[in-house]
Amino acid sequence: MDYDPQELEARWRERWAEEGRYEADPADAEAAVAVADDTDASDDDATGDADADSDDPTFITVPYPYPSGGMHIGHARTYTVPDVYARYRRQQGDNVLFPIAWHVTGTPIIGAVERLKKGEEDQLSVLRDTYNVAEDTLEDLETPMGYARHFIEEHYKRGMKDLGLSIDWRREFTTNDDRYSKFITWQYETLRDRGLLEKGLHPVKYCTNEEQPVTTHDLLEGEEAEFQEYTLIRFGHGDTVVPMATLRPETVRGVTNAYIDPDADYVVADVDGEEWFVSAAAVEKLQLQGHEVVPKRTVSGEHLVGERVTNPITGDEVLVLPADFVDADNATGVVMSVPAHSPDDYVALEEAKADDERMAEYGIDPAEVEEIEPIPILSIEGYGEVPAKTAVEEAGIESSTDPALEEATKELYNSEFHRGRLNDEYGEFAGEVVEDVRGRFRDAYREEGAFGTMREFSEEVVCRCGGDVVVAEQDTWFLRYNDEAWKQKAHDVVSRMEAVPENTRGEYDHTIDWLNEWPCIRNYGLGTRLPWDDEFVIEPLSDSTIYMAYYTIAHRLEEIPPEDLDREFFDALFYGADAVEDPDERALELRSEWLYWYPVTYRFSANDLISNHLTFYLFHHAELFDQPQWPEGIVIMGMGLLEGEKMSSSKGHVVLPGKAIEEYGADTVRFFLLNSAEPWQDYDWRAEQVASVRNQLERFWNRAQDVIENPGPEERPELATADRWLLSRLQRTVETVTEAMEGSETRTASQAAFYDFEEDLRWYRRRTDRSRPAARWTLREVLETRLRLLAPFVPFLTNELHERLTGTPAEDAPWPEVDEDLLDRGIEAAETQVERLVDDIQGIRQSLQNAEEDVPEADPDRIRITVAADWKRDVFATVAELGADQGAVMSEVMQDPDLRERGNAVNDLVGELVEFARGRDDGELSALAEVDEGDAYERAADFLATEFDAEIVVQREGDDAEAHKQAVPFRPAIELEAE
Ligand SMILES: [Zn+2]
Repeated sequence: MDYDPQELEARWRERWAEEGRYEADPADAEAAVAVADDTDASDDDATGDADADSDDPTFITVPYPYPSGGMHIGHARTYTVPDVYARYRRQQGDNVLFPIAWHVTGTPIIGAVERLKKGEEDQLSVLRDTYNVAEDTLEDLETPMGYARHFIEEHYKRGMKDLGLSIDWRREFTTNDDRYSKFITWQYETLRDRGLLEKGLHPVKYCTNEEQPVTTHDLLEGEEAEFQEYTLIRFGHGDTVVPMATLRPETVRGVTNAYIDPDADYVVADVDGEEWFVSAAAVEKLQLQGHEVVPKRTVSGEHLVGERVTNPITGDEVLVLPADFVDADNATGVVMSVPAHSPDDYVALEEAKADDERMAEYGIDPAEVEEIEPIPILSIEGYGEVPAKTAVEEAGIESSTDPALEEATKELYNSEFHRGRLNDEYGEFAGEVVEDVRGRFRDAYREEGAFGTMREFSEEVVCRCGGDVVVAEQDTWFLRYNDEAWKQKAHDVVSRMEAVPENTRGEYDHTIDWLNEWPCIRNYGLGTRLPWDDEFVIEPLSDSTIYMAYYTIAHRLEEIPPEDLDREFFDALFYGADAVEDPDERALELRSEWLYWYPVTYRFSANDLISNHLTFYLFHHAELFDQPQWPEGIVIMGMGLLEGEKMSSSKGHVVLPGKAIEEYGADTVRFFLLNSAEPWQDYDWRAEQVASVRNQLERFWNRAQDVIENPGPEERPELATADRWLLSRLQRTVETVTEAMEGSETRTASQAAFYDFEEDLRWYRRRTDRSRPAARWTLREVLETRLRLLAPFVPFLTNELHERLTGTPAEDAPWPEVDEDLLDRGIEAAETQVERLVDDIQGIRQSLQNAEEDVPEADPDRIRITVAADWKRDVFATVAELGADQGAVMSEVMQDPDLRERGNAVNDLVGELVEFARGRDDGELSALAEVDEGDAYERAADFLATEFDAEIVVQREGDDAEAHKQAVPFRPAIELEAE
């Protein structure tokens, strides 16, 4: 029967759907345990602590997809890895739940619909060309939920079913569903009552295009940007305030001049009842940061050039100079210059002094510029009187374009911050180190009204919609992730859970530490309205923190009218009958389902979600649920590349799973995704390699057909050495695969079960006559076990073959266990020796064949194999016992008078054998010590004779003959002879 994945996969999909194969209920627990008992599972074996237990089912989740576009092959792996784990646990006898739902909260879908309705060409091309949306379907996509529904049904759900994901489809929902909103309402009312949700003025990321707050999730650029708080020094020009932004307010006494961009637009505006002079770009930002701003007139920067402005602290009047380096888009667009303490400013001043022509052009008397001298305001050891001058001269900087200038500036800022002490003119602040005094100094002048505040991002931030994102202060509701007690609880969750890979654990702790207040509402979007202020919607990263609990009851909630799902209902459900006065019986019934499934065993998720979603998940579980319901583990997933490049839906650089499955079959797609990298590593989809996986599976299929058709005897016959070797290798493979699966190492597991074992089979086929009954029996055993090991990875193919072989699909058969009786290290070690011998003979023959002249021995009639003498074996026994320790081995063997007599020969041999022993474990060494090399080669003589078409003579050194070459244990002397 030929391998036809499309046909066979369709059949299995249909069968799974009809049977409701992956619908999991607490009542299934007993059945699951029965399967496990079948396997004789013991608690102390390699499969560890998660053995079948009706009270401890396995609950796997993955972030619900956001159907604002289609699913591509990168998403496919995100969902396939958890599926493999789910399937593995089912075979281990667990009752396993793997659900999915759809996240539609927020604005991305609304935005996509709007772009579609406007007929934007980019959007239409993505829909038509990347996602193959038919022309007459486009209309259905013109409402947000219609749009979402299309991608849910036609892309995600279809793709997931095609891939064979073992999902319980009864539990799907969207985050825009009424009942889900009731659940989120309960969550947010509870958090507010506990004081973890508050309202207040708060800096937020604000999209100037959408005119509403956005989160990191929504950004195209600047995801790492931080809020920076500038101090505005209120310089004066007559009655007009000319605010200048600085991160170093304590340098205000060192200001010698100011700079402005003469060509940029500035405005004179009424700000909170005063007249201000700021850049035009600052107007909206100031408005967004709580100021009443009414622009009066626009002027160019040149307007202020050559004027003098008054320092609010010293009363000094300083000159405003023109400068190209001023960025009018940053802060107020006018900056103060502190040449004594800023290498930047120092160099700029030197350049201004040297450019009389430019100064004159702006009507500035060059002599006035010449008079400007740096004013040191603090002292710092090692930098002389004018630190910036010292820094510039020491770095050999001669112009403002020197790249070393930035480094010098950063370094001086840093040194002054930690070591600079303010000079006497600072009065009460004099003598203090900047680090200790900056905050107090700033606050004192803020109170006095000489300083103000303005926030900016540390880098440019752009929204996905293309709009500029700026800092706004908004009266908003925020989650208090800065609450110390809450942080502590979240740390507790991290310390108890399994982090895979382990090196991600610190990232959760780090995120918990830096997370601050988190604005959790938007002005519009899909999702749940803020319960007590329905002008606002709860944003996507905030309505997705505990929905894993919702999965456990989602299908049964359908029986309950949404209006009954009030606060008390969910209190009874999650906190029990005692939590409310008159508990709803239905809630208590659902409570037992929730308690049955919870906590989540593993959540599989992308690496970049640690810094938001995953840590929020930990915070909310820590607060809302008790410790037994806290997450047990998180497995982090790497990123997918396509032919070496980042996938991108908007650029059309994606592979859709449907297309790949049509071309190669779902098993191939799955196997490639799981095999090319461990889950947390990045992987690269390469069509050529995928095609080669397809061929390998086909070969596997064809060989399996052969075994199914000729299965050999029912009862186990007398086995040959080669059979016992293969069965021992099989046990070791079971061990490796099981251990890897316990650690979610899907690559290691599938490599061992498939590719590594194929190597063993290749050797076996070469080594033995496969038509023997014992060989048939062995190959049948091997196939059955491997089909079970591979079932989580390639479920379609393995179920089909296993059912034909045994009458049961592989997924319904228990996970294989190591049969200790079949493990035989001695046979494996001996066989490894034979393999090495074959390689060595081949090597020698090859080098003779490559010789310049014809050497008759290149095609030998006889191969003489001389095994090392007995005394050499005694030395090896000592090495096997003592390990790779030259000194210890020497002093031991020198106890033996016979060996002592051999002198240097022993010394050399010990050196060689110690080298051989290095990197081999004790088990292998002691197995080798047991191997009778001569026997092993003699048993293989027929095989070797056939391999090399030569007579094989095995002899023992010293005993039968002296070889011309030295024999060493496990490296016999090999001589090729021609008649
Ligand atoms: Zn935007």
